[in-house]
Amino acid sequence: MNLAQRVKSLKSSPTIALNSRVQQLSKEGHDIVNLTVGEPDFATPLAIVERAIAALQQGRTKYGPAGGGLALRQAVSSKLLQENRLAYAPEEIVAGCGAKEILCHLFLALVNPGDEILLPAPYWVSYEDQIKLAEGRPQIIPPEVDRANHLLLTPAMLERFATPRTVGLVLCSPNNPAGSVLSPESLLELGAYLTSKNWWIISDEIYEYFSFETPHRSLLELYPELRSRFILVNGLSKSFAMTGWRVGYAAGPAAVIGAVKTLQSHSSTCLPPFIEAAAEWALSQGAELMRVEIAAMKAKRDLVVELAQQLPDIEFFSPQGAFYLFMDLRPLLAKSEQYANGSSLAWCEALLDQQKVAVVPGEAFGTPGYLRISYACSPEKIREGFRRLALFIKA
Ligand code: PMP
Ligand code: GLU
Repeated sequence: MNLAQRVKSLKSSPTIALNSRVQQLSKEGHDIVNLTVGEPDFATPLAIVERAIAALQQGRTKYGPAGGGLALRQAVSSKLLQENRLAYAPEEIVAGCGAKEILCHLFLALVNPGDEILLPAPYWVSYEDQIKLAEGRPQIIPPEVDRANHLLLTPAMLERFATPRTVGLVLCSPNNPAGSVLSPESLLELGAYLTSKNWWIISDEIYEYFSFETPHRSLLELYPELRSRFILVNGLSKSFAMTGWRVGYAAGPAAVIGAVKTLQSHSSTCLPPFIEAAAEWALSQGAELMRVEIAAMKAKRDLVVELAQQLPDIEFFSPQGAFYLFMDLRPLLAKSEQYANGSSLAWCEALLDQQKVAVVPGEAFGTPGYLRISYACSPEKIREGFRRLALFIKA
C-alpha cells in the first residue's frame, strides 16, 4: 500500500522534532543545553490560567463555532484597533488552534496547484511544507544583508523571483529565525512596490511584542490600500507564553476568512471554549500584561549579542526582535576539512554529541551554513550554552 503523493515529500517540523529529541535525552539524564525551540521560558500568567479554570467550572466544555466564538473575535478586533490601529469587524476575523493551523488553512484557501508564493529566506520551517501541501511552489528568496548585518527585504529582491505564476508573499517581522525586524523605511518601500502587484500578502506578526528597537508596525497600517489582499496572522503562543494552549488568529477579507472557517469546520472544528475564555482576557490586557517578560527578553537579546561577539569567525544577523540569534557559520565551515561541504546540519549534530548543546541547523530554514539559537531560556542556560559553543569552536 502506498501513501499519497502529497505527504511523501513532506518532512516533519524539524524544530518540533529536535525539541522532542532533546527533551527525551534530558529525561534520560543527559545534561543538555536546549537552545532549539522557539518557546518563551516564562509561565503563562496565572490570571490567564485562572480564567480557563473558571470557564471549565462554568461548563464551557462543549463544541464552539468554527472560526472562534463572537466574544473572542470581538476581543481580537479590539486588540487590532488598540495595539495595531487596524479596524477589523468580527466577520473579518478567524481564530483557531494556533497560528500554524490558521496558516495551513490559509495556504489551502489561497493557493492553486502550481501557484508560486514568494518566501524570503531564512523562513520559519512550516511555511514551505504548508505551501507544498496546498500543491503550491515556494519561491525561496536568498538572504541579503546590509553593512550592519541587518537582514534586508527589498522590492529588487522580490522582483528577481517574481513570475507570472506568483500569487503571494509571506512576510514575517519580527522574524523567525533571523531575529530581524523590517525597518519603517523598508516597510514603506515594500508597501509602495506591493501596491502595484496583485498578490496575497500573508503577514505573520506573531512576534510583535518582541520588537526591541522600534515598536511593531504592521505594513497594513502604513498601506491601507493593501487591505483587500492582506491577511494578518497572529497568535497568543509567543506574546502571552501560551504555546501549549494553541490559540492563533487571522484578520483579512471576509471571503478568505470564510474559506478558512469552512476548512476548520471539517478539521479542527473549534477552539476549546474554556481556552477561548482565557484568550479573550489575555487579549483584553495586551502587551502591558507582559511588560516585565518582554523587558527580560530584551536583556537576554543583549546578552547573546555580547556573547556571540566573542566567538571567533562567527557572524550573525543583527537581532532586533523575536527571540532568536541566527549565526553564519560559513566562514568557520570553510576553514574546516570536516565540514567544508557547508553542512551546518553535521556541525550541529557534532555540537550536540560533543558539547551537549542543541541548536537548529540552518537547513531547517532554507539556509544551509547557518544555525539558529533560541535565547528564550534562562541567562544561566544562555551563558553555559555559549561557554560550550566556544569550546566546540576552539576544538
Ligand atoms: N509563525 C511563526 C513565525 C512561528 O515562529 C510560529 C511558532 N510556532 C508560528 C507561526 C506558529 O505558532 P502557533 O501555532 O503556536 O500559534
Ligand atoms: N515556532 C517555534 C520554533 O520555530 C516553535 C516550533 C514550531 O512550531 O515550529 O521553534
